[in-house]
Parts: sequence; C-alpha cells; structure tokens
Amino acid sequence: MELPFSESYKIKMVEAIRKSTRDEREVWIKEAKYNVFNLQSYQVYIDLLTDSGTGAMSDRQWSAMMLGDESYAGASSYRRLKETVRDITGFEWFLPTHQGRAAENVLFSTLVKEGDIVPGNSHFDTTKGHIEFRKAAAVDCTVDAAFDTSADHPFKGNIDLLKLEDVLSEYPPERIPFVIVTITCNSSGGQPVSMDNLRAVREMANRYGVPVVFDAARFAENAYFIKKREKLYSNRSIREIAGEMFSYADAMTMSSKKDAIVNMGGFIAFRKEEWFRKASVYNIMFEGFITYGGMSGRDMNALARGLEEGTEFEYLDTRVRQVEYLGQKLREYDIPVQTPIGGHAVFIDAGKFLPHLPREEFAAQTLVTELYLEGGVRSTEIGTLLADRDPVTRENRYPAVEYVRLAIPRRVYTNNHMNVVAAAMKNIYDRRESIIRGYTIVREAPIMRHFTIELKPAGE
Ligand SMILES: *Cc1c(COP(=O)(O)O)cnc(C)c1O
Repeated sequence: MELPFSESYKIKMVEAIRKSTRDEREVWIKEAKYNVFNLQSYQVYIDLLTDSGTGAMSDRQWSAMMLGDESYAGASSYRRLKETVRDITGFEWFLPTHQGRAAENVLFSTLVKEGDIVPGNSHFDTTKGHIEFRKAAAVDCTVDAAFDTSADHPFKGNIDLLKLEDVLSEYPPERIPFVIVTITCNSSGGQPVSMDNLRAVREMANRYGVPVVFDAARFAENAYFIKKREKLYSNRSIREIAGEMFSYADAMTMSSKKDAIVNMGGFIAFRKEEWFRKASVYNIMFEGFITYGGMSGRDMNALARGLEEGTEFEYLDTRVRQVEYLGQKLREYDIPVQTPIGGHAVFIDAGKFLPHLPREEFAAQTLVTELYLEGGVRSTEIGTLLADRDPVTRENRYPAVEYVRLAIPRRVYTNNHMNVVAAAMKNIYDRRESIIRGYTIVREAPIMRHFTIELKPAGE
C-alpha cells in the first residue's frame, strides 16, 4: 500500500486552547459589537482570523533568536538577513521595516503622489489604503475569472493584460509610478499569478516605461503553485522559481508575517540604488535606522531562518495541502467556495451561501458571526466592510464577491481542527434559510473601517 501524506514536522511545544459554550459566545460577540477583531483570544477556540504573524516558529528559528545581534548599526543579524533576501530574490538593496504596511508606507512615500494611478491585481486593503491616503487611485486589473468563484482557472491572481494596457495607454507614465502585482493575490482568494503572466506584465510595463513592484507577502506559496500548475516549472526548485519571479520586478514589499513565518517583521528590496537611497530617508523617519528599521536583531535572525524554511518544498507542500484539505471538506458539504482553493485560506462565497440577505446587511459579516456562534471559530470578512466607502462619493463599495476568509496559521492547527471548522460551517449551511437578517453599522472609521467597526443586528 502506498504510504499516505503526512506533515513534514513534529510538535515540540503546545499551547492549550479552550472551548466555550454558545451562551458565552452570544454575550461575548455582543460585547465585541459584532466585530470579531474586538474578541479576546480566550474567547476563541479555533482562530482563523488571519495567517499573519500567527504561525509557529521552528526550533531553528528560536535558536537563531538567541544569536541576535542588538547593535544599533551594522548588526550581524542585519547582514545575515540582507544576504538571505539577496539569495532568494536577487535584489541587491534592502531595507528592514516592522511589518508589510510599513514597507508600503516607506516605498509609497518615495514613489506615489497625488493624482497618480496604480494598476494591479485586487490590491490588498493596506496597499489600497496607502495609495488612497496619498490621493492616488488603485485600478483593479485582475482577470474576470477571479470573480466567478466556481470558474476553474489555475491562476486567478493573474493580471488581465487588456485591462492593464487600457490603463497604461490612457495615462502618461509620469502618473503611473508602478504596476503592483500581489503574489499570491490575497483579496481574490489567495490565488496565484503565473510565471507567464508575471513575464508578460513586465514586458508590457517596459513598453510603457513603467516600473513593476511586487507585494510579495506570499511569494513562496505563489512559487509552489507555479511548480504545481505551470508545466515548464514542475522540475524546478521553489528557490529557482522565486528567483525568476523576482527577476520581473524592480522592487518588492514584504509582510514577513506571512511566508517568512515570523510573528512580526517586513522589508523592502530594490534593484536600483536610487530608489533605495530615496526610501532610506523615509525609513529613518518612520521605522528606524536602515540596518534595523523597526526590528530587533533577534527578530531579523528568526526572519532570515524563516525565509529559508518558508521556501522549502516539503514545508510548502504540508502547508498548502492543509488549506486544500479544509477546502475539499467544505466542498463535500456543498458549501460555495472560491476554487481552486487558495494558498493560505479558504474563501467562502457568502453571497451564494446567504443569497436572500440584502447587500446593505453584509452577508459575509453575518456568516462570520454565525461561524463564531456555532463553533467558536474566528474568521474574517473580505467583503463590503473591508471594501470601505468610495473616497469621493462616500457610498459603500460593493465588491464583486462577498467572502468569508478562513485563513490558516502556519504549522499551528491539525486537520482535526479543520474537521471542526468544516462541521460548524455545515451546520450553518443546513439552517441557512433561517438566517434572515444581517447587521447594520453603528460606528465606523473614515478609512480601513473593518478593523474597528461597530455593528448591531439589523432591525434592532
Ligand atoms: C498582510 C499583507 C500586507 C500588509 O502587511 P502587514 O504585515 O499586515 O502590515 C500587504 N499585502 C498583502 C498581500 C498582505 O497579505
């Protein structure tokens, strides 16, 4: 008999988690103003809020922390990290930052000005926030297949080249600081971008004299999908594939809390010294000196080791297969999910799950609350609340799909936990017609409202 698949690690340290009762959860979610970001961690049984900074570090990462060099300038930890980044990405110039949005803040302060246009594939919320905060506009050029959750397309993160060319030909290059490609594309369901597409975007951008930047939080998962789905690459290593991917960009921002498997950290890497020089000024102002940028030496060491582990095939195979496992379970129960299943999360199509709810009552947020009440499982809304209001008209922006995202922390939960999540979801699916009202907004922030929003049940 062929031996079955199993995880590429064993467990050395554990953390207890606590189940709660539905009665407890009803009180807690009301106190949290129906916003799961306001829940305390002890009130959550299985936490799929995000895969950001929630992974388990390895023994090698923890031991690297003990060797951290806390010198203010020129620490060996900085050098080690810079060299690892160069080995993996090919970028010679590098700035550490405390997390991904800080990298965006520094890089966009350097490159983006009022009135600019930044085309890309379903920009991440902080990316869009940093563009719109500078009175520039993000234009979504993702392929249409991304918005049809049942369409089978191996690379739903791809940029539609016709849409991109429309933008590049409509505006002069002075108004387009760069094209941004998010790999994998978080907002469309953790969907990968093909090598073919990255290459084509690069060629088109060259023709219009516009640079290319990668939002590379999950570049290793993207490389894994290229290896699995793009024939030419099936025999290449993850490192080789990542190297070619980055050869098509001029710079990258990184949230190390994702594919570099650390709890906090980020960086920017550049091909051109000129961008590095300009960005260094902002890095010193916002983050810290250019050899630490908001990170401790020990954290830079753990990050360097995390980048090495995060680009190993065996690790990625374990990781992506677990996400796939949960996705397949949900599909067996007929629950509508974005297919193929993404790299870091399963995205449930809440509009198909609760088609009878009016859009102003936020179907995805309603399902997030139901899942918490049903199983103590915390998920997140990637829908109208996250999409925010239009900066000019202040109307709600209704996205093409209302998603509930079940993001899976790296190396943290077992497939038994996934079974609990799937069963909770099935119970809700079985009684979905009894869910007749959603939620309305009581209070919201002017930008990135979903983090702090306060809600109440509609009609109350
Ligand atoms: C998480 C994330 C960011 C922002 O990074 P933080 O570390 O959370 O600040 C940017 N882009 C993408 C695609 C992300 O997933």
